[in-house]
Amino acid sequence: MEGALTARDRVGVQDLVLLEDYQSETAFLNNIKKRFKEKLIYTYIGSVLVSVNPYQQLGFYTPYHMEKYQGVNFYEMPPHVYAIADNTYRSMRNESSNQCILISGESGSGKTEASKYILQYLSVCSASNEQVEYIKSRLLQSNPVLEAFGNAKTHRNDNSSRFGKYMDIEFDYRGAPVGGHILNYLLERSRVVHQASGERNFHIFYQLLEGADDVLLSRLMLTKSPDKYAYTNQVSSPKYNSIAILYDNDLKYTIDGKCAKVSSICDRRDFVAVQKALKVLDFSPKNIDELFCIVASVLHLGNVTFTQNEDGHAVVERQHEIQKIANLLGCQYEQLLQALTHRTIEANKEKMQSPLTVEQALYARDALSKAIYGRMFDWLVSNLNRSLTNKDLMRKNVIGLLDIYGFEIFKSNSFEQFCINFCNEKLQQLFIELTLKQEQEEYRAEGIEWEPVEYFNNKIICDLVEERHQGIIDILDEECLRPGDASDNTFLTKMEETVGKHPHFITHALGNSKLRKTIGYEEFRLVHYAGEVTYSVKGFLDKNNDLLYRDLKVAMSESKHDIIKQAFPVTELARLKRPETVGSQFRTSLNRLMDILMSKEPSYVRCIKPNDAKMSGKHFSIVSYNTYRFDETLVRHQVKYLGLMENLRVRRAGFAYRRTHEIFLNRLVLIQSVQSYTHVYTDVTRYKSLCPSTWPHYDGSPRKGVDVLCKYLDYKEGEYRLGKTKVFIRFPRTLFATEDAFQIR
Ligand code: ADP
Ligand code: MG
Repeated sequence: MEGALTARDRVGVQDLVLLEDYQSETAFLNNIKKRFKEKLIYTYIGSVLVSVNPYQQLGFYTPYHMEKYQGVNFYEMPPHVYAIADNTYRSMRNESSNQCILISGESGSGKTEASKYILQYLSVCSASNEQVEYIKSRLLQSNPVLEAFGNAKTHRNDNSSRFGKYMDIEFDYRGAPVGGHILNYLLERSRVVHQASGERNFHIFYQLLEGADDVLLSRLMLTKSPDKYAYTNQVSSPKYNSIAILYDNDLKYTIDGKCAKVSSICDRRDFVAVQKALKVLDFSPKNIDELFCIVASVLHLGNVTFTQNEDGHAVVERQHEIQKIANLLGCQYEQLLQALTHRTIEANKEKMQSPLTVEQALYARDALSKAIYGRMFDWLVSNLNRSLTNKDLMRKNVIGLLDIYGFEIFKSNSFEQFCINFCNEKLQQLFIELTLKQEQEEYRAEGIEWEPVEYFNNKIICDLVEERHQGIIDILDEECLRPGDASDNTFLTKMEETVGKHPHFITHALGNSKLRKTIGYEEFRLVHYAGEVTYSVKGFLDKNNDLLYRDLKVAMSESKHDIIKQAFPVTELARLKRPETVGSQFRTSLNRLMDILMSKEPSYVRCIKPNDAKMSGKHFSIVSYNTYRFDETLVRHQVKYLGLMENLRVRRAGFAYRRTHEIFLNRLVLIQSVQSYTHVYTDVTRYKSLCPSTWPHYDGSPRKGVDVLCKYLDYKEGEYRLGKTKVFIRFPRTLFATEDAFQIR
């Protein structure tokens, strides 16, 4: 509840719907800034949660707080991610519906942390028994494993997820978790072979090097130091450790130098956690060993170099490296050596070995490293899924959690940003579909008056990217398939020919003259819903093709080790069809994801990063900032990218709660008491029983029933509307008042 005026002046409103001037972006920003200064990082827009990353532990994620939020309505407690989790959970149980929580925001804004808090909350606060406890621990343990293999330190986030993740948590009819399922999206595999200066490779490489004992290290033929390996020594200065683990209060904060220790302690500690988690998740010792062998083999692969012989062909410089790799991957030394320097080509029905140049060999080596790592990651996820599947317990409903990369605009943007930003266009589209459009259409269908809200529909941009034959993905695929002179530049020309006139596409050739000056000859610009992004076409064909020479695939598919063998199935080699391109694959999996999300009731957590320095207010003195680190320009951009003002406009105009008349009549009143695993449901009071005309005997239509009930409960005219099939309640407080009153009685 908002307190006295003075308190509100100090900490703003906790629901932005209550803002006096809800059209003003400045008022919006001021409100979250005020709250942020008071360490109130959460604010609602109706039922959407806005979260600002505090970059410090705030101490409100304790078991005490978890309990406080159970069965409590939004308005009764300060906004919290637990409230979102709790509401979702209750809706799932009370209405037997599938739910999802979509977490969005740019890198470092707190998405993954939020998803972990939600998972934790659901795990702690849901029904339980021994068998269920077992599953809960597995669900929780899947995180450290995925983070070790899929996260890395970047400029923006010391623990940045380099893959998109959607996780279904499955519940039985009593509301106890009985299993889970994970879908992963587009792991940033290029990181395996190259990192921007000041960034790191995936955590697992360092964890293994720092954390493995001497026995394991010598088995993997590794030396302890990351400096020794080309794939982990690209970090240009030791500064990469400097702001790591800011949030860990035990660790000293240092701005530069002498901090390798901080990082090493963590890597070692995390390695222990990963090993433990793998065991909990029932990975066999053999598989765990193979995983580490694969990670080690990639490190060794990075150190393979080539020289040129007198014919200009590549020759492996230190062949014993290949011996190690073959050994670790369980494949044949000769075959691997040959495949790294030659490729089989077919001419006139005859197979021939064509030697590679040094450049080609390096390309093949890196392609192999990326493929091995990427496929190992996929294997890991499918094995996690096996371990999270429960065949004994019946699933009834699910809560999906989506934690996926936010919009990315870098100085230089390539194919990866193109995919990620396309993904965000799709999510925005989904948001529009699910809330704005659906809302308006629903009101119309229900015969309820609605003042139309203006909004920008970004479908036009989605189409520009994904439309069959005409969209950028298909244009790229066509160039990838076309033999002859196809190149990144011909791809650009093809785009200009096909979509050059599209209002959201700008290039040098066809853009308006003013914009043109800022675009290079090898660039194109997309006008995204969140702003304009300039992409360099360099590398688009290569990255989309993601070519791995067949000989290397053959060598891998004949491996003696389970994981490699499964990751490179022989069946793939038999297929004559070209493998699907990265772009098409991504489009397919995104559209599948959209279908999954579309069939659920969504909740939203919108994460905001207050500054680019990963800094909490408490660190200001160290870097001589005299304000809290709330960078208004940065936050303003994010408010725009996240479409928050639009969101607010719609919420303010609409009704907060709507349910079908039947569901409303059957809505549970004493929700708080329905916590225990063994509770008998027949005792629970429902809305219809609050009124003598609808309880215990009522045989009229549900709509009439709700009508009678609302009048009996003395709901005011402006507070609710009766649609054809649903009741609409303008403010949640109307419902809460009813429920509170009943409980007092
Ligand atoms: P994203 O997934 O959006 O890239 P993360 O969830 O990994 O970002 O958050 C980045 C870092 O910010 C975390 O490692 C943590 O240090 C800090 N952080 C994020 N959310 C919180 C929070 N609610 N409380 C404290 N620290 C947080
Ligand atoms: Mg993340």
